[in-house]
Parts: sequence; C-alpha cells; structure tokens
Amino acid sequence: MTAGLFDRTLYHGARLLAERDPDLYDLLEREQLRQQQTLAMVAAASTADPSVLACEASATSNVTTEGYPGARYHAGCELVDEVERLAVRRAKEAFGAQHANVQPHSGSTANQVVLCSLLSPGDVVLGMDLKAGGHLTHGASASMSGRFFTPVRYGLDERGLIDYDGMTELARRHRPRLIFCGASSYPRTVDFRRFRAVADEVGAYLVADISHIAGLVAAGEHPSPVDVAHVTTTSTYKQLYGPRGGLILLGRDAETRTASGRTLRATLEDAVFPYLQGTPRLNTVAAKARALAELTTPAFRERAERIVATARALAKELDSHGHRVLTGGTDTHMVLLDVGCRGLTGRIAERALESCGIVVNKNSIPGDPHGPRVTSGVRLGTNVLALRGMGVAEMAECADLVHTVLAAVRPSGDRDYELDEAVRGAVASRARALCDRFPLPDHPLPDPSLPTPAAPVPAA
Ligand SMILES: *Cc1c(COP(=O)(O)O)cnc(C)c1O
Repeated sequence: MTAGLFDRTLYHGARLLAERDPDLYDLLEREQLRQQQTLAMVAAASTADPSVLACEASATSNVTTEGYPGARYHAGCELVDEVERLAVRRAKEAFGAQHANVQPHSGSTANQVVLCSLLSPGDVVLGMDLKAGGHLTHGASASMSGRFFTPVRYGLDERGLIDYDGMTELARRHRPRLIFCGASSYPRTVDFRRFRAVADEVGAYLVADISHIAGLVAAGEHPSPVDVAHVTTTSTYKQLYGPRGGLILLGRDAETRTASGRTLRATLEDAVFPYLQGTPRLNTVAAKARALAELTTPAFRERAERIVATARALAKELDSHGHRVLTGGTDTHMVLLDVGCRGLTGRIAERALESCGIVVNKNSIPGDPHGPRVTSGVRLGTNVLALRGMGVAEMAECADLVHTVLAAVRPSGDRDYELDEAVRGAVASRARALCDRFPLPDHPLPDPSLPTPAAPVPAA
C-alpha cells in the first residue's frame, strides 16, 4: 500500500481547484448540494456512490492505450489491465454473461457498435418508435441509426403495451437484419423471448437494450435477455448507479458465427476498438468495476425490490389523486403520467415541479400533439428515492407533492405558467424536508459551520 496517495490526490485536487479556479469550484460544489437537497425522480438517472466518483477522478485517467488487457498497443498497462479484467469479470458475474465489453463510452455508442458491425449501410432495422418510448439509437431519423440504416418502427397497442402482433407483422413484411427491443419510456415488462422468436423466424439479430432496467435485470426483478437476445447493451449510469458509460454483454450466442464467419464475440470486440472507439477511459472502466461489484450484493437486491415496490406505490397514489397513469401502473422503476389531459404540457409540469425542488422529465406520450421539447407527459422514476432509503410508506408524500404542484399550476400558453407562491413555498419545504430525512447514503452532508452556497434558481 502506498501512503494514501490516492486519497491525498483527490483532496489536494479539490483544494487546488478551490484556490486556483474558485468559479468552477463553486459550480461543482453547488451541483453536489443540489443533488443532496432536491427530490430527484428522474427515471434515466441514479446517483453514483462517492467510491464510484473517486474511481472516475483517479490517475487511471492519465493512461493512454488502445486494445484490450494483455493485448495493448502501449506500455505501462499492467495495472489498468487488472482494472479492466476486474470490470469484465464483475459484469459477467452480475449478468450471468459469457462475455462483456466494458469499453463503450456510452449506451448510444454501444448501440452504434452493434449496428455498424453487424449490418451494412442501408440494411433494415426494426426498432420501437421514438414516440412510443423507443430510443434515438433504435432507428430514429434524428440519429445515425435511422439514416445509415433503413428504419422500420413498431409501436404500442390501445392499452399502451408493446404491439407484439404488429411488430411480428412488420418483421415478416420488411425482413429486418436487426431488431431492437428495450425502451426509454416504457414501464412494463418486455417479453424478450417473444422478440427472439420473431428474430429467428425472419433471420434477424435481436439486440436487447436494457439501459433503463439493467439494475432490475441484474437483481432478478425483470427477466434477463442476456441468454435470449444475440446481444445485450446498456448504459451504466441509469439503474447501475455507475459512471457515464456503456456495456455490451453476450450470453448463449457469444460464439455464434456472423455472415463473415467470425464469432459475435470477436466481431463486437473489434467493433468497439478499432472500428469505432480509440483509447478507453480507464478511469471510467474502474468506476464501472466499482459499481458492478455492488450488483451482486444482498443490499442491491433489496434496493431493486424497493425500486419496483415504490414505483408501483407511486403509480397507485397518483392514480388515486385522479392522474392518468399510462398503462395503469408499472412493473419497473418508471411511472408515466399524461398531464395533457389536465391542460398542461410536460414542459410546464417539469418546470413547475423543478421550481419546488422536485426533478422529473417531460416525456412524449402516445399520440402526443406536442414535439419533444414540449410534450404532454411526465416520466418519473424511483432509482434515487430507493437509494435514499425511501420505501412504499414515503410514496404517499412523494405523490402528494407532485399532485399538489400539478393541481395548482396554471398554464399561460405552451411555455409560461403561474404557480401560487404559497403553494410553491410549502411544497419546496416539504420536498426539502424529505431529502433531509433521507439523505443520499455515504454522501457527506453540508458542513453547518461553513457558508452554504446559494441554491440554484431554475431558469425561467
Ligand atoms: C439512455 C438510453 C440509451 C443511451 O445511453 P447513453 O449512455 O446516454 O448514450 C440507450 N438506449 C436506451 C433504451 C436508453 O434509455
């Protein structure tokens, strides 16, 4: 063991920053305070543990190399090789995978890697429509996935569930080379086996993108696609409580041959590097290793159970306040609300809630008359609430806070709104009290002897 070099570097770095760059330091400090003191119900987010953040800030960030452990293009990689091997081993263990690539810089990059290595330009990709809850990288026209390839899109049935019959019909008609399943805003269980049967029938690769539900999959709270899909991808900062980044996982099909005769494993390794990426972020790989280690603990399993139980309770409470909960509930961490039926837009709901210290996302809903910057829906998630230690009992309060704001806000046009100051003040202090009662675990609290930086004021 060296004499606390790592600890001292982190501390010293923060002190140097405060001294030499107080403006930047102040912003970073205030951001940390914001996270501690606001009620985050953002389905696409979690809060990484300080030990994960420390890995990101470690000196592994200084290592330039390319390639994989034991086969790098640069010297000086003995220790980072061990770090990456650890991350790979933990990813395989957490997901029961045969193979894991921990280098993708993001979930989007992981999907690009899969598309660009398994398909040729112009090939047909069948993915969930962005407006139905799919992701940009599954064939949306705003993304390369919908421009370099030929997208075909499936949607939802009248209950708001994946239209499996319609998807099957589209697959038979268009013969895609690749089918994406997994979504960005879909609160129900995805039937991976049904997708695989269709993929096999039409001769397509099935890619399961579990970015939103990876923690539930690791904990056994949602069926795993790892041995069902040809390839599984995920981002690491949503339900894995890890750093920004992506993972590619292979199960039973790791040694399946592609048209070129190479295995999926070899094809995807070469696709991450050298085809699409250069030097890996080894600090981020270390942070992934750290976050992945947590997934196999009893504490994580218990939290995953609570993520689902709290989301179900939140949906039920909001429903009992008269809100329209899409699909009538949830099987995951996610609750989707239609606010358009109350005469609000998602944008106004998001801003009004943020002005009270409650952070949610505006979100398109099926048949949304508004574009993605305005929307008619709100997406809530319980990843951070569960991390804070909240349970089903606290969801009455969370739902009541959201309801109180949404019931009081008065829109004036698509953009502006009015919210009674007394309501705003009361909700803000209740939200703050809840955060104080359930602080982010292992995150230091503000030192009362030091001046507290000003709270951020949401832009008008
Ligand atoms: C968030 C998300 C991604 C993108 O992940 P990034 O790491 O933000 O690039 C991909 N697919 C789905 C389904 C997502 O929800």
